[in-house]
Amino acid sequence: MTWKTLDDMDFAGKRALVRVDINVPVENGVVTDTSRIERIAATVDDIQAKGGKVILMAHFGRPKGQVVPEMSLEIIAPAVSDVLGLPVTFVNGDYADAVAEMEEGDVLLLENLRFNPGEEKNDEGFAKRLASLADIYVNDAFSAAHRAHASTEAIARLLPACAGRLMAEELGALEKALGSPERPVVAVVGGAKVSTKLDLLGNLVGKVDHLVIGGGMANTFLAAQGINVGKSLCEHDLADTAREILSKAESAGCEIILPRDIVIAREFKANAANETVPATECPDDAMIFDAGPETVAYINGVVDGAKTLIMNGPLGVFELEPFHAGTFAILNKIAGQTKVGKLVSVGGGGDTVAAINASGHGDEFTYISTAGGAFLEWMEGKELPGVAALG
Ligand code: AMP
Repeated sequence: MTWKTLDDMDFAGKRALVRVDINVPVENGVVTDTSRIERIAATVDDIQAKGGKVILMAHFGRPKGQVVPEMSLEIIAPAVSDVLGLPVTFVNGDYADAVAEMEEGDVLLLENLRFNPGEEKNDEGFAKRLASLADIYVNDAFSAAHRAHASTEAIARLLPACAGRLMAEELGALEKALGSPERPVVAVVGGAKVSTKLDLLGNLVGKVDHLVIGGGMANTFLAAQGINVGKSLCEHDLADTAREILSKAESAGCEIILPRDIVIAREFKANAANETVPATECPDDAMIFDAGPETVAYINGVVDGAKTLIMNGPLGVFELEPFHAGTFAILNKIAGQTKVGKLVSVGGGGDTVAAINASGHGDEFTYISTAGGAFLEWMEGKELPGVAALG
């Protein structure tokens, strides 16, 4: 799929309505993490450098179509101004007047889109109202692209539309990882439950050469093969589904890699007494918390031979020492291979980003997506309405 970028548009003397994600954490009226705002700067700077005027639109929290004062973007406006180093005018109410008065270099920030019930309904009327404010529509919010909302989907059909810098960067990285990747491709999928990642596994077995299944979800696959997993987190009712995924993988020629040895404990807490045993020997009263060193060595060998890797989910309970060891050991290998230019590595999803950062390799992946739901849906092979609308 192809999409237009800022380079394909003529912004001179034009107004650009830019959908951004500045849904940042706020405590006592103060923004505590400006990372998301920093990431929109390239697009704002570029449009202004090309002679365009920027009107920002975004959501904040979940006001569900009602005006909720604590979720007003007025709270975020000063942080946007600080980070961009530009005066940012927050507008609430009569957008048309504010837009008519804009001068070159001005940045406007519209009120929380989700205060209007039309936003989440992908309402044509609301999209038309927004579209009337500008000449060009720019979507720079990949993280909101899995939702067909007025500001991500309907509006793209009303104005000339393109992807912003951040959106284009994200789509480029994802395309490189799963769209047309260099082979062999490895996917590492871990985390708590299979039930939340069924579509993901189903899509990946048809696309990658090796699929590592780790974390709590690996237990479901072990149990489905008749292996005792003791008191481990396990979705026994998904045994048939797990077996279907295994046979789909076999016919697609995708190697499924499950734990060969496991780290077990009897208490869910940091530094709980633990031991490493073969995956087939989990005692009845124990819980599996991590993959063992033999499994890690095998995975790392596969990563050594791979050209592309995509990761969503940890191999174990990485938040509790020492059960982070398996996840950190493979992250170390992935970062090393990426650094020497042998691997394209893409990771995403809330817990995955947390694990990568905790391991100290946050800057060493080729690309880390901070878009939770959108990243997952893209990995599931689903069409994202906000991206499709740019095509
Ligand atoms: P998810 O949100 O599905 O990616 O799951 C991430 C969570 O799975 C993390 O909080 C991990 O602690 C947890 N997890 C990973 N491995 C296990 C395991 N073997 N048993 C229980 N929880 C696990």
